[in-house]
Amino acid sequence: MKFVFIGDIEFGRSNKKHCNFQLPNTIIQQLNAGDALFFNLETVLLPSSFDRKNNSLPNKDIHIYSDNEDGIKYLKQNIKCPIFVSIINNHTFDFGLNGYDETVKLLDKNNYKFTVKKSYYIDDKIIYLNATDHWTIIEKNNKKNPQNSNLWDKNCLLINNESQEEYTYKLLTYLNSIKNNRILIFSIHWGKNFQNNERESTYLSQTYELFFKKICDLGTDIVFGHGAHHINDKYYEIYNKKLIIYGLGDFYGDFVYKSEYHTDKSIILNYDTKTQVTEQILLSGKYSQYTDNHKISCKKPYILDYLNKEKNPAEGGNRFAHEIEMKELMPILKKYNIQINKIKKEIIYKNKTISYKDYFNNPNNKLTHYCSDKNLSKLIYEKYNIPYPKYVDIVDIQNHINSFKFPIILKPKSNGGGNGMIEDIENIDELNKNMNILDNNNYIVQEQKKGSTYRILVFNNNIIYIKRSKPPFVVGNNKDTVEALIDNLNIKLKRKNKGAYVKRISDTYIKNQGYTRKSILPYGQKLYITNVINFWNGAHDYEFINIDDVHPMNIELFLKINKAFKLNMSGIDFITNSLSKPYYLSDGNVLEVNWKPSFRPAIDFFPEPFILSLINNN
Ligand SMILES: [Zn+2]
Repeated sequence: MKFVFIGDIEFGRSNKKHCNFQLPNTIIQQLNAGDALFFNLETVLLPSSFDRKNNSLPNKDIHIYSDNEDGIKYLKQNIKCPIFVSIINNHTFDFGLNGYDETVKLLDKNNYKFTVKKSYYIDDKIIYLNATDHWTIIEKNNKKNPQNSNLWDKNCLLINNESQEEYTYKLLTYLNSIKNNRILIFSIHWGKNFQNNERESTYLSQTYELFFKKICDLGTDIVFGHGAHHINDKYYEIYNKKLIIYGLGDFYGDFVYKSEYHTDKSIILNYDTKTQVTEQILLSGKYSQYTDNHKISCKKPYILDYLNKEKNPAEGGNRFAHEIEMKELMPILKKYNIQINKIKKEIIYKNKTISYKDYFNNPNNKLTHYCSDKNLSKLIYEKYNIPYPKYVDIVDIQNHINSFKFPIILKPKSNGGGNGMIEDIENIDELNKNMNILDNNNYIVQEQKKGSTYRILVFNNNIIYIKRSKPPFVVGNNKDTVEALIDNLNIKLKRKNKGAYVKRISDTYIKNQGYTRKSILPYGQKLYITNVINFWNGAHDYEFINIDDVHPMNIELFLKINKAFKLNMSGIDFITNSLSKPYYLSDGNVLEVNWKPSFRPAIDFFPEPFILSLINNN
């Protein structure tokens, strides 16, 4: 069978603090990938009519509940396989036995699978058992309020002393004897909140590994552990063909964000019981507001990384800097004694950690947003005197048209990469014609600059490389039309990267070279076909520029741009007639600043300078 395990869920923690539970489709798909889904529910479920005041458990500091069914209904509607929920944990009896009964009723009504009190679940394929080693994690609470321990002890499998441990072994020995072909799953909410904290301990917090292995030896096929509120350092292992999950973090809900524990992250773990093959998907979380807008605290997951999949780092713009995980980089990381943590997305060098999640940029840097929004990047360009080709929203062009120099180019505000661009507009008539057919809200008008386009990779105030994109061209064979030659070229380009081919063909540019799309191109004749020169418009080839050949004023400008946006890493797209002359004498202009640039060429050609920029700065 194939099982899917995820981290803890809270749908909120009170009637005011409620999360609007919704998952992205990519995650729903993953949760539907197995024959059953498993998670731990960290809250009590109560109807709004429930008398919370009189049922709230005394001598317990935190009581959490969800006051409606929206979350469990949503999950059930979207997940087609059986859902096994663990409800034995430190919050099970926050609202006494009455609160527990309500939880069970609501789960039953919505067709969830779970255990009741000390019993186990059994069908013809699965035996499922729930336990915990604490009702709350602080030992002194345990001693001061034994009545709470008793409540847990009486009403669920609480493993908090030797005799309970012995009892568990006996129970599992018995379940193993009736198991036959079933899979025996032991779900346990164990240990401390935050694995390495010093102020708490629980019965199993020192001996859990031994305990989990022992119960596997007694017939348990899967130990599903949870409780730490973050991905455990070792979060799973295969032991004697059994799966032990130590902790996958918090999947969804009202959980605090602690950066040192990376609590934004959690794991979806797929497990094939026949082959013991696992697959891990790393999630991160966006923290958003409660349904009543009170406070920002609901963590909603999104997929950060398919940990078992090969990366294609050619493109940039990924959720994290994929390139750093490429196997080609491993020898040099080893040479400098740099470790890499693919779960935390950090590199560790001399006991320091450096996050590569946001391409080495500060996750709190608001200016990254300015890079992607053309109207905002303009504000930075103006403030720091950075040259850029003049542009305005297309709807504002009538007020500015006299100050614009033709030719001009029309660019969509979003959707980069040469999609939807219209260039070589020579006069007002042509502009008006295009304005009649385009979505005017989504376009800017920009002065069109001539020259070569360069990508400059800046990292920690160093220029790692400057590369010039070679414009795509076709070569005549005395037989095919220009159009047919372009089609052939695009077939080849799409084979390398299906989204990066010549989409914008510049008819004016072709005309200036003496041809049209219908011309038969003479043998050996080279014809450039576009003046939108970037990777996504088919400019796959590039050459590196010797940095000594670049005028120091230009270098200074590139570093200034990187600083103006407060970036550690940036990919600057720049157009100029000559890099060896200062930008103000060569019509040099910034086209775009990318804060998540692909830096694959750095790994392939300049790994040493790249790594030195990384570690010398940190
Ligand atoms: Zn807990």
